Amino acid sequence: MTSRHFVGSIFALLLAFNVLPISVMAAEQILVKNQNEFQKAVSGLKPGDTVVLANGVWNNFEINFSGKGTAEQPITLTAETKGKVIISGQSNLHIAGEYLVVSGLVFKNGYSTTDSVISFRKSEIELANHSRVTETVVDNFNNPERVEVDYYVAMYGKHNRFDHNHLAGKRNKGVTMAVILDSQASQENHHRIDHNYFGPRPVLGSNGGETLRIGTSAYSLTNSFTLVENNYFDRCDGEVEIVSVKSGRNHVRGNLFFESQGGLALRHGNDNLVEANVFLGNGVAHTGGIRVINKGQIIRNNYLESLTGTRFGAGLVVMNGVPDSPINKYHQVDGALIENNSLVNIDHIQLAEGSDASRTAAPINSEFRNNLIFNESGRDIFTLKDDVSGIKFSNNVLNEVQNPQITEGFASRDVVMTRGANGLLYPESRELSGVGASRDLVVLEKSQTGAPWYPKPDPSIRFGIGNTVDVTPEPGALENAIKQAQTGDVIRLAPGDYVVSKILHIDKPLTLSGDGEARIEYERTTLFEIADGGSLQLRGLSISGKSTPDNVGNSVIRSSRYSMLVNYQISIENCEITDLTVNRAFNFFYASKQTMADSIDISGSRFSNISGAILKLDNENDDEGIYNADYVRIKDSSFTDVQGALVDLYRGGTDESTFGPHFSLTGSQVRNVGTGSRNKSGASVYLHGVQVATIENNLFSGSAPIKVYHTVGDPVTRIVKNTFAATPVPEVTELNSQQENTALIADNTVEETPK
Ligand code: CA
Repeated sequence: MTSRHFVGSIFALLLAFNVLPISVMAAEQILVKNQNEFQKAVSGLKPGDTVVLANGVWNNFEINFSGKGTAEQPITLTAETKGKVIISGQSNLHIAGEYLVVSGLVFKNGYSTTDSVISFRKSEIELANHSRVTETVVDNFNNPERVEVDYYVAMYGKHNRFDHNHLAGKRNKGVTMAVILDSQASQENHHRIDHNYFGPRPVLGSNGGETLRIGTSAYSLTNSFTLVENNYFDRCDGEVEIVSVKSGRNHVRGNLFFESQGGLALRHGNDNLVEANVFLGNGVAHTGGIRVINKGQIIRNNYLESLTGTRFGAGLVVMNGVPDSPINKYHQVDGALIENNSLVNIDHIQLAEGSDASRTAAPINSEFRNNLIFNESGRDIFTLKDDVSGIKFSNNVLNEVQNPQITEGFASRDVVMTRGANGLLYPESRELSGVGASRDLVVLEKSQTGAPWYPKPDPSIRFGIGNTVDVTPEPGALENAIKQAQTGDVIRLAPGDYVVSKILHIDKPLTLSGDGEARIEYERTTLFEIADGGSLQLRGLSISGKSTPDNVGNSVIRSSRYSMLVNYQISIENCEITDLTVNRAFNFFYASKQTMADSIDISGSRFSNISGAILKLDNENDDEGIYNADYVRIKDSSFTDVQGALVDLYRGGTDESTFGPHFSLTGSQVRNVGTGSRNKSGASVYLHGVQVATIENNLFSGSAPIKVYHTVGDPVTRIVKNTFAATPVPEVTELNSQQENTALIADNTVEETPK
């Protein structure tokens, strides 16, 4: 007889003789249909009771669920049918007490007015212990103000479990899920966070975009004993830290990090164990691995493949510390054990990273052994930023690398890799079986995480996935077509002259396409306004600003004037933009504060006769490391007689939490650009705080100079193979470093006469 059968039989026996304990007898299942019924039901809950929310939409529902269950008889809050109870509007869930279980709820179409959607406490002194939230969904449940800070989940108390939940689409500032250790009642908590699906989190464009944080620097020398196991991190891009461990003795194992920008940082706290995790970057930009700081960290049996990240965001990073560091800075790495990890086609391993005038304490008492480092390119992927003699290297295997920097403790071998049954790469040679990650490493499947009944989002595809809709120049036809368009539709404009009398609001990804013979004029201060959810692609169109009102600051495209939660994309191909001159500061594109473009692409297009800037991306001017556009890419285009700059791209401040902005300008002609008397920056291309910039193979003629301001990090600026005719040479300024600027300015041609 199995134990379950045994208990079942005893139960049946007790039932037969009517001698069940009172509490079992009285346990109730209470179906509630509205908030009044819910309030009544929760006022007197006994161990074993279950409150069932009726199917439907519960609007503006602030759920306070408290009670004292027992280990054998918890008190449960659940849905009549899992997934059919939708909590929307201004809603949240606070639980407090003992042995509570919540399951089956979906939070969507709303946001929390408190600092979290789900909180394991009711007040500072009423916490939840031994409680569980399972199969619950928080999907795009965001405060509409992008910079307002809140959590999806705030975990307090002790011995709580958060499992099989689905958290996706966090878009405003604030960590998606935080374990908070702000009082003794929440320290040494032994929480379990397992089998959750952490769905896509778009680039926030500032600090505060972490997916999971355990602790804070203030309490980082206390232990948390939190287990983070078998969670799936799907494209969690928010910022440089996906998981930020800021406490001691946590155990992070068996998780899968899929194409997520950023890494797992052991930022504060000691004696954490990171093992059997799998990182799959698939070559996506800024995908990182594990970053080691502090004492006694163990990094064991992890598998990392095709991660492109560098510097703090590299595949593996061991940091330098600050001597006698204050609690919120970098503590020295001491006693790290890094063993049996496989690092396969990782672009960078950084040791003693962050070494600078204050971070002078190199790692000590550490070991790096039995690791397998395989890189197809045969390149040495190690970067040593300082003395690494405090790390003992032994029994590691490196595939054949030319001139490796570290030779002791590494055998250079001709390694042949094949995929094992688990889909991961292993050396064919059995002699190497003790090196790298184990063959029985389990690769977590996405389907084992989250709520089984709630679909996981597909990769977001934007342009061109819908139908093609034809329009003619007939008045109002284009406006109507846009109003009725569905996500991803292509609106094909027949040749002719279009006059648009309304602002076209773009709230879904749309393409407007012409064959070069469709010409648009418009009569409002902007032609397009991007709203939340909108993205715009223009192909083969001619647009003139001639008929716009005589007003300062018109545009062709602008982002919403209000805070936008959803990042957008703009793509301009083979277009002709002319005569943006009715008044001053007429910009082609204007981004407002609290709006963020994932990308702005311009290719094969011609712009001429413009009184403002082409791309005005400098409205985040609070110097808090926030910016307007992550990728700006311009190629094979021409810009002629533009009084403002080709681009004003600004990211102020010294925060180091973002990978962007990125900028590239290639194969383009820039004639008489940036020379207007009202162009504040005095630049043709103005880049402030841009992390990666490439300006290559362009002609600048009779234009203002390129001006680049480096702020923090290791900005990579390349200005090469350009011709500067009757244009001052580029100016690069280091704002916060005393060193000479790090820009590469080479192979450019300087000529006196315009071309
Ligand atoms: Ca951060």
